Amino acid sequence: MTDAPSVLDRLHALQAGDLPTHGGRTLAYVYDSGLAEADEVGRQAVAAFASSNGLDPTAFPSMLTMENELVGFAADLLDAPPDAVGSVTSGGTESVLLAVQGARDARPDVQRPRMVVPSTIHAAFLKGAHYFGVEAVVVDVGDDYRALPAAMAAAVDEAPEDTVLVAVSAPSYAHGVVDPVAEVAAHAAARGIRCHVDACIGGWVLPYAARLGREHHPWTFAVDGVTSISVDLHKYGYTPKGASILLHRSSELRRPQYFARADWPGYTMLNSTMQSTKSGGPLAAAWAVVQTIGDTGYHDLAVQVFAGVDALVDGIGRMDGVEVMVEPDSTLIAFTTDDTCDVFTLTDEMNAAGWYVQPQLRYGDIPANVHLSLSAATAPRVPEFLTALEKGVAAAREAGPVTVDAGIADYIRALDPAALTDADFDGLLVAAGLVPADGGDGTLALPDRMADVNAMLDLASPRLREALLIAFLDRLQRPVRG
Ligand SMILES: *Cc1c(COP(=O)(O)O)cnc(C)c1O
Repeated sequence: MTDAPSVLDRLHALQAGDLPTHGGRTLAYVYDSGLAEADEVGRQAVAAFASSNGLDPTAFPSMLTMENELVGFAADLLDAPPDAVGSVTSGGTESVLLAVQGARDARPDVQRPRMVVPSTIHAAFLKGAHYFGVEAVVVDVGDDYRALPAAMAAAVDEAPEDTVLVAVSAPSYAHGVVDPVAEVAAHAAARGIRCHVDACIGGWVLPYAARLGREHHPWTFAVDGVTSISVDLHKYGYTPKGASILLHRSSELRRPQYFARADWPGYTMLNSTMQSTKSGGPLAAAWAVVQTIGDTGYHDLAVQVFAGVDALVDGIGRMDGVEVMVEPDSTLIAFTTDDTCDVFTLTDEMNAAGWYVQPQLRYGDIPANVHLSLSAATAPRVPEFLTALEKGVAAAREAGPVTVDAGIADYIRALDPAALTDADFDGLLVAAGLVPADGGDGTLALPDRMADVNAMLDLASPRLREALLIAFLDRLQRPVRG
């Protein structure tokens, strides 16, 4: 045995290379309430329930109780009718996958199931389409990045009898706006089609925004035709990672999500979600944090975070060289830069200054831009952030644009990812600076500055980006052997 202190030393040393999860300077991936007491309760709950197994609620009834209480809290928040039910899942992706799977399996009569989604829908739906053999019909959004109900309706009506699901966002991840849910849901309902609202990132904070008088399209179960909603606890519930909720308007709608298998010699498998053995840690942590913060606590956190959103939108609006893409409905902000300021150099500058901001590559006519997910803990730091942003813009202007050599650009545009061999990918990854020429030693050594890599990816088609990044990930994920 290796003694615990030396193992924990190594663990903490490894963690020191990660983005900070707390402190409000990481504006994607993590959500920080800034409430030390809630964090501490969450950590203790994870530890206490890490080995408990949600596989069998009769063996671990505590987990059933916590799940039902959490779903009840969410149902109250989202205007759910008395018959609504829900399940706690491992995250937004699992909630979304189950919504797609349930919609498909509710319609065994459909040979070629399809679902209609706006182009801004989270990629988890496309993953669901891929996993479950559902065709994703992707519809362009309007100039305000919101779904276009008439275009969605027309897409549905191309094959209404094969359409098993329509989905919209509250809000979309990329631009932070709420789709016109009522119109989309009404059209789906008139044809007997399920309508899912993906509120993974906004579901826990938008209801408080509404109470504060901030306007956006209605999207909860108060809207007729909405059949299910996904809402993540591990985003604006500010709980530790590994917890989301999928709510259905009725238990009948949830039924196809369940899986039972008695036809084998072991225990009868009976699952409400994708996992079977399921750690109690994330559920207990989510329950404990929600108990600790509570309705008034979330209200106060919303006041705080929206003060931050307003200050940030205002500050970016006053700044030269940057522009907010659309007035955000929620806590997510996307902004572009003008020709004088390279967007990927700017994100490098911010990261070097200790602020993690997320570059979003160009998509169709939408230029590359910067995504910010604001946490309550970021709100008091907005003035500091704006100062850093101003410096970042100045530095990016000073550095000038990142240019991809014209020959390389033509080469990238002409590449057909389907025709590339492993050796081609090795060459491309080295050329892009993503892996060292000698193949490396298995440790992740990304360049400090990503602007050149991002500029190259930005030129590539989505298919080529996917292929390159998969090749990259494959090369990262190699076992370290004794
Ligand atoms: C985060 C997110 C998801 C996926 O959730 P994960 O927890 O990352 O699996 C789905 N939809 C939206 C809108 C999201 O923001």
